Amino acid sequence: MARINDNYLKLQAGYLFPEISRRVKAFTDANPDAKVIRLGIGDVTRPLVPAVLKAFHEGVDDLAKGETFHGYGPEQGYSWLAEVVAEKAYKPLGVELKTSEIFISDGSKCDSANLLDIFDLGNKVAIGDPVYPVYNDTNVMIGRTGKANEKGYYEGIVYMPCTEENNFTPELPKEKVDIIYLCSPNNPTGTAASKEELKQWVDYARANDAIIFFDAAYEAFITQADIPHSIYEIEGAKECAIEIRSFSKTAGFTGVRCGFIVVPEALMGTTETGERYSFNKLWSRRTSTKFNGASYPVQKAAAAVYSDEGWAQVQEVIDYYMENARIIREGLTEAGITCYGGVNAPYIWLKTPEGMSSWDFFDKLLNECFVVGTPGSGFGPSGEGYFRLSAFGDRENVETAVSRIREKWGK
Ligand SMILES: *Cc1c(COP(=O)(O)O)cnc(C)c1O
Repeated sequence: MARINDNYLKLQAGYLFPEISRRVKAFTDANPDAKVIRLGIGDVTRPLVPAVLKAFHEGVDDLAKGETFHGYGPEQGYSWLAEVVAEKAYKPLGVELKTSEIFISDGSKCDSANLLDIFDLGNKVAIGDPVYPVYNDTNVMIGRTGKANEKGYYEGIVYMPCTEENNFTPELPKEKVDIIYLCSPNNPTGTAASKEELKQWVDYARANDAIIFFDAAYEAFITQADIPHSIYEIEGAKECAIEIRSFSKTAGFTGVRCGFIVVPEALMGTTETGERYSFNKLWSRRTSTKFNGASYPVQKAAAAVYSDEGWAQVQEVIDYYMENARIIREGLTEAGITCYGGVNAPYIWLKTPEGMSSWDFFDKLLNECFVVGTPGSGFGPSGEGYFRLSAFGDRENVETAVSRIREKWGK
């Protein structure tokens, strides 16, 4: 019989979202008349904007005619999309990228997982805690770790706690690491790293020959002018960082699927014999062999996100979500609840009142306010005592949820 990949058995059961569903179902079965509001989701809810839809339709129509039909495209993505990305997403930040450094993909989850292919298993990896679970689990699957301990920490990974005490910005690891995952603006904490904080990481990476995987899936939600949108705004980052971006949250592409990854040509690793080798070359090779490109109409739609019209429309949707975030953050703060995030990200990370555990607060919020959120402990041990509310909902629901919470805890 064929042997399975035993690394998969080290994974802890996907417990968080099934457990939330189970508790919500038990509640709604017992209270069929309660109007439950879900602010737990990490998915967008507003439809695609008109300029994007138009380009998407045109892309499909191109496929209907012999003269404009497109079959396989370049595995790395169409250069016209990479040019738009370089021009519209990076140049205004003062960052010059070549199209050969930008790889179009079907989304960031896949990119962050696939990236591990081009790194030796012997590399030491550091990840935040709490964290987007994909970073942790993909390292387990590929065989970089031992088993998890009772806290849920895997042997071999360096965890960097992000708590109120360090303003949700991890401290530099005490031991030498080779790969560091950073996510800013952050899911789940909703906080964003400043230029000075990112500079510390870039300096650390350069001094230690480490590489930063920088997940900027939420950069479009940044509202404060001094928060960097790209790690390449920090001098020297092209020599030590890979940036991952997605159209999912920016433009409502969670069901459309498109993202991109930047692997600068200056980014080098070493071979077994100690020679320098380009990660850009490796990633290009990997992409050619294992990917056949994001679909043509999807790339057309993605390019339209960066048209003047598309960007203005997308910005309106982002503003809508960020107004939700403001309503949640200010409403809960007035109710005496300590809130973080919600300024440069569509998530509010609140401190559970009266020192309640994350799950106790979940139950209380569900039973007394009919509101569903996500227990912080589900994102890692350091998330215990915190709770995530998402701003991706409908305005009326957000307002109702906040007024129910204020009635309950309000002053
Ligand atoms: C939603 C999200 C992404 C985007 O994933 P896609 O696969 O592009 O939809 C990436 N990183 C984080 C932290 C996210 O929350």
